[in-house]
Amino acid sequence: MKVILLGAPGAGKGTQAIKLSRELNIPHISTGDIFRENIKEGTPVGVRAKEFIDKGMLVPDEITLEIVAERLKKDDCTNGYLLDGFPRTLPQAQALAELVEIDVALNIDIDQSILKERLCGRRCCPECGGTYHVKHLTGDACPVCGAKLIIRKDDNVETVTKRLEVYNAQTAPLISYYESCGKLFNVDGNRDVEEVFKTCLDRLKE
Ligand code: ADP
Ligand code: AMP
Repeated sequence: MKVILLGAPGAGKGTQAIKLSRELNIPHISTGDIFRENIKEGTPVGVRAKEFIDKGMLVPDEITLEIVAERLKKDDCTNGYLLDGFPRTLPQAQALAELVEIDVALNIDIDQSILKERLCGRRCCPECGGTYHVKHLTGDACPVCGAKLIIRKDDNVETVTKRLEVYNAQTAPLISYYESCGKLFNVDGNRDVEEVFKTCLDRLKE
Protein backbone atom coordinates (compact mmCIF):
# COMPACT_ATOMS: atom_id res chain seq x y z
CA MET A 1 0.00 0.00 0.00
CA LYS A 2 1.40 3.38 -1.02
CA VAL A 3 0.16 6.16 1.21
CA ILE A 4 0.73 9.90 1.38
CA LEU A 5 0.24 11.76 4.65
CA LEU A 6 -0.81 15.31 3.88
CA GLY A 7 -1.32 18.03 6.45
CA ALA A 8 0.11 21.26 7.82
CA PRO A 9 3.32 21.22 9.89
CA GLY A 10 2.30 19.92 13.32
CA ALA A 11 -0.89 18.23 12.09
CA GLY A 12 0.40 14.91 13.42
CA LYS A 13 1.76 13.26 10.25
CA GLY A 14 4.93 11.94 11.90
CA THR A 15 3.06 10.74 14.99
CA GLN A 16 0.58 8.79 12.87
CA ALA A 17 3.19 7.56 10.39
CA ILE A 18 5.24 5.92 13.17
CA LYS A 19 2.16 4.07 14.46
CA LEU A 20 0.85 3.12 11.01
CA SER A 21 4.26 1.93 9.87
CA ARG A 22 4.46 -0.44 12.85
CA GLU A 23 0.91 -1.68 12.36
CA LEU A 24 1.08 -2.16 8.58
CA ASN A 25 4.73 -3.17 8.42
CA ILE A 26 5.63 -0.71 5.67
CA PRO A 27 8.39 1.92 5.93
CA HIS A 28 7.80 5.45 7.12
CA ILE A 29 9.57 7.78 4.70
CA SER A 30 9.90 11.33 5.96
CA THR A 31 11.71 13.75 3.66
CA GLY A 32 12.27 16.02 6.67
CA ASP A 33 14.03 13.14 8.49
CA ILE A 34 16.14 12.37 5.41
CA PHE A 35 17.22 16.01 5.18
CA ARG A 36 18.01 16.13 8.91
CA GLU A 37 20.13 12.96 8.57
CA ASN A 38 22.01 14.57 5.69
CA ILE A 39 22.53 17.75 7.71
CA LYS A 40 23.90 15.71 10.62
CA GLU A 41 26.28 13.86 8.31
CA GLY A 42 27.32 17.07 6.55
CA THR A 43 26.60 15.71 3.05
CA PRO A 44 26.30 18.13 0.08
CA VAL A 45 22.51 17.60 0.12
CA GLY A 46 22.46 18.40 3.83
CA VAL A 47 24.51 21.59 3.41
CA ARG A 48 22.21 22.81 0.62
CA ALA A 49 18.97 21.79 2.38
CA LYS A 50 19.94 23.46 5.66
CA GLU A 51 19.89 26.92 4.04
CA PHE A 52 16.19 26.49 3.30
CA ILE A 53 15.08 24.45 6.34
CA ASP A 54 16.49 26.94 8.85
CA LYS A 55 14.47 29.71 7.18
CA GLY A 56 11.24 27.68 7.15
CA MET A 57 11.30 27.49 3.36
CA LEU A 58 10.95 24.42 1.17
CA VAL A 59 14.03 22.71 -0.18
CA PRO A 60 14.05 23.07 -4.00
CA ASP A 61 12.08 20.40 -5.86
CA GLU A 62 15.06 19.00 -7.80
CA ILE A 63 16.94 18.15 -4.58
CA THR A 64 13.84 16.74 -2.89
CA LEU A 65 12.84 14.65 -5.90
CA GLU A 66 16.29 13.15 -6.14
CA ILE A 67 16.35 11.97 -2.51
CA VAL A 68 12.84 10.52 -2.82
CA ALA A 69 13.58 8.68 -6.07
CA GLU A 70 16.68 7.15 -4.43
CA ARG A 71 14.76 6.16 -1.31
CA LEU A 72 11.91 4.51 -3.24
CA LYS A 73 14.41 2.24 -5.00
CA LYS A 74 15.30 0.49 -1.72
CA ASP A 75 14.17 -3.08 -1.15
CA ASP A 76 11.95 -2.26 1.82
CA CYS A 77 9.63 -0.29 -0.49
CA THR A 78 8.42 -3.36 -2.39
CA ASN A 79 5.20 -3.70 -0.38
CA GLY A 80 4.50 0.00 -0.14
CA TYR A 81 5.33 2.92 2.16
CA LEU A 82 4.01 5.91 4.04
CA LEU A 83 5.23 9.21 2.63
CA ASP A 84 5.34 11.86 5.36
CA GLY A 85 5.99 15.43 4.26
CA PHE A 86 6.25 14.57 0.58
CA PRO A 87 4.94 15.77 -1.84
CA ARG A 88 4.75 19.38 -0.72
CA THR A 89 4.41 21.17 -4.08
CA LEU A 90 2.40 20.50 -7.22
CA PRO A 91 5.54 19.71 -9.30
CA GLN A 92 6.56 17.17 -6.61
CA ALA A 93 3.09 15.55 -6.76
CA GLN A 94 3.23 15.41 -10.55
CA ALA A 95 6.73 13.92 -10.51
CA LEU A 96 5.62 11.30 -7.97
CA ALA A 97 2.68 10.37 -10.21
CA GLU A 98 5.17 9.68 -13.01
CA LEU A 99 7.07 7.30 -10.75
CA VAL A 100 4.32 5.36 -8.97
CA GLU A 101 0.58 5.12 -8.48
CA ILE A 102 -0.29 5.90 -4.90
CA ASP A 103 -3.34 4.32 -3.24
CA VAL A 104 -4.50 7.10 -0.98
CA ALA A 105 -3.60 10.56 0.31
CA LEU A 106 -4.68 10.86 3.96
CA ASN A 107 -5.16 14.54 4.70
CA ILE A 108 -4.89 15.25 8.41
CA ASP A 109 -7.11 18.26 8.63
CA ILE A 110 -6.57 20.53 11.60
CA ASP A 111 -7.51 23.88 13.05
CA GLN A 112 -4.39 25.95 12.32
CA SER A 113 -4.73 28.02 15.50
CA ILE A 114 -3.34 25.13 17.58
CA LEU A 115 -0.32 24.40 15.41
CA LYS A 116 2.10 26.94 16.86
CA GLU A 117 1.57 25.54 20.37
CA ARG A 118 2.02 21.99 19.07
CA LEU A 119 5.21 22.74 17.14
CA CYS A 120 6.86 24.98 19.73
CA GLY A 121 6.19 22.29 22.37
CA ARG A 122 7.43 19.40 20.22
CA ARG A 123 10.31 17.30 21.54
CA CYS A 124 11.97 14.69 19.33
CA CYS A 125 14.01 11.64 20.11
CA PRO A 126 17.23 11.54 18.06
CA GLU A 127 17.60 7.79 18.74
CA CYS A 128 14.20 6.11 18.21
CA GLY A 129 12.52 8.91 16.20
CA GLY A 130 9.64 9.34 18.66
CA THR A 131 7.82 12.68 18.80
CA TYR A 132 6.27 14.06 21.98
CA HIS A 133 4.80 17.20 23.42
CA VAL A 134 6.46 18.92 26.35
CA LYS A 135 3.16 19.05 28.26
CA HIS A 136 3.09 15.23 28.45
CA LEU A 137 6.71 14.87 29.59
CA THR A 138 8.21 15.04 33.06
CA GLY A 139 11.88 15.38 32.10
CA ASP A 140 14.00 15.56 28.96
CA ALA A 141 14.45 11.80 28.44
CA CYS A 142 12.64 9.85 25.73
CA PRO A 143 9.87 7.82 27.44
CA VAL A 144 10.54 4.92 25.04
CA CYS A 145 14.34 4.61 24.82
CA GLY A 146 15.68 7.05 27.43
CA ALA A 147 17.76 9.18 25.01
CA LYS A 148 17.92 12.92 25.62
CA LEU A 149 15.12 14.61 23.68
CA ILE A 150 15.89 17.52 21.38
CA ILE A 151 14.04 20.60 20.16
CA ARG A 152 14.18 20.92 16.37
CA LYS A 153 15.95 24.09 15.26
CA ASP A 154 12.98 25.03 13.07
CA ASP A 155 10.42 24.61 15.91
CA ASN A 156 10.62 28.23 17.05
CA VAL A 157 7.85 30.84 16.71
CA GLU A 158 9.46 32.75 13.83
CA THR A 159 10.27 29.72 11.67
CA VAL A 160 6.96 28.03 12.48
CA THR A 161 5.09 31.14 11.30
CA LYS A 162 7.00 31.02 8.01
CA ARG A 163 6.43 27.25 7.63
CA LEU A 164 2.67 27.71 8.04
CA GLU A 165 2.66 30.49 5.41
CA VAL A 166 4.62 28.24 3.06
CA TYR A 167 2.24 25.35 3.74
CA ASN A 168 -0.82 27.48 2.90
CA ALA A 169 0.73 28.86 -0.29
CA GLN A 170 2.49 25.79 -1.69
CA THR A 171 1.22 22.59 -0.08
CA ALA A 172 -2.46 23.17 0.72
CA PRO A 173 -3.31 23.18 -3.05
CA LEU A 174 -2.37 19.47 -3.08
CA ILE A 175 -5.61 18.73 -1.23
CA SER A 176 -7.64 19.64 -4.33
CA TYR A 177 -5.07 17.94 -6.56
CA TYR A 178 -5.56 14.59 -4.79
CA GLU A 179 -9.31 15.15 -4.59
CA SER A 180 -9.41 15.58 -8.35
CA CYS A 181 -7.40 12.34 -8.74
CA GLY A 182 -9.97 10.54 -6.52
CA LYS A 183 -7.26 9.68 -3.96
CA LEU A 184 -8.11 12.04 -1.10
CA PHE A 185 -9.34 10.90 2.32
CA ASN A 186 -9.87 13.61 4.93
CA VAL A 187 -9.17 12.80 8.56
CA ASP A 188 -10.20 15.08 11.42
CA GLY A 189 -6.87 15.75 13.16
CA ASN A 190 -8.42 17.78 16.00
CA ARG A 191 -8.83 14.64 18.09
CA ASP A 192 -6.51 12.66 20.29
CA VAL A 193 -3.75 10.57 18.74
CA GLU A 194 -5.54 7.23 19.17
CA GLU A 195 -8.78 8.44 17.58
CA VAL A 196 -6.92 9.87 14.58
CA PHE A 197 -4.97 6.61 14.33
CA LYS A 198 -8.12 4.50 14.32
CA THR A 199 -9.66 6.56 11.48
CA CYS A 200 -6.47 6.29 9.40
CA LEU A 201 -6.11 2.57 10.03
CA ASP A 202 -9.76 1.82 9.24
CA ARG A 203 -9.33 3.56 5.88
CA LEU A 204 -6.08 1.75 5.08
CA LYS A 205 -7.53 -1.64 5.99
CA GLU A 206 -10.60 -1.15 3.77
P1 ADP B 1 3.95 16.71 11.82
O1 ADP B 1 4.75 15.46 11.53
O2 ADP B 1 2.66 16.76 11.05
O3 ADP B 1 4.74 17.96 11.69
P2 ADP B 1 4.00 15.68 14.55
O4 ADP B 1 3.44 14.31 14.40
O5 ADP B 1 5.47 15.80 14.78
O6 ADP B 1 3.51 16.63 13.36
O7 ADP B 1 3.23 16.37 15.78
C1 ADP B 1 3.51 17.73 16.19
C2 ADP B 1 3.32 17.86 17.71
O8 ADP B 1 1.93 17.65 18.02
C3 ADP B 1 4.10 16.84 18.56
O9 ADP B 1 4.49 17.49 19.76
C4 ADP B 1 3.07 15.74 18.83
O10 ADP B 1 3.37 15.05 20.04
C5 ADP B 1 1.77 16.52 18.91
N1 ADP B 1 0.60 15.77 18.38
C6 ADP B 1 0.54 14.97 17.29
N2 ADP B 1 -0.70 14.48 17.11
C7 ADP B 1 -1.46 15.02 18.11
C8 ADP B 1 -2.85 14.91 18.48
N3 ADP B 1 -3.71 14.17 17.76
N4 ADP B 1 -3.28 15.60 19.55
C9 ADP B 1 -2.42 16.37 20.28
N5 ADP B 1 -1.10 16.51 20.00
C10 ADP B 1 -0.63 15.85 18.93
P1 AMP C 1 9.24 18.22 8.26
O1 AMP C 1 10.16 17.33 9.03
O2 AMP C 1 8.31 17.46 7.37
O3 AMP C 1 8.53 19.22 9.14
O4 AMP C 1 10.17 19.06 7.27
C1 AMP C 1 11.16 19.95 7.78
C2 AMP C 1 11.66 20.85 6.66
O5 AMP C 1 12.33 20.04 5.65
C3 AMP C 1 10.60 21.63 5.89
O6 AMP C 1 10.23 22.83 6.55
C4 AMP C 1 11.31 21.87 4.56
O7 AMP C 1 12.26 22.91 4.68
C5 AMP C 1 12.08 20.57 4.35
N1 AMP C 1 11.27 19.60 3.59
C6 AMP C 1 10.79 18.41 4.05
N2 AMP C 1 10.08 17.79 3.08
C7 AMP C 1 10.13 18.60 1.99
C8 AMP C 1 9.58 18.53 0.68
N3 AMP C 1 8.81 17.50 0.29
N4 AMP C 1 9.84 19.54 -0.16
C9 AMP C 1 10.61 20.58 0.20
N5 AMP C 1 11.14 20.73 1.42
C10 AMP C 1 10.91 19.74 2.32
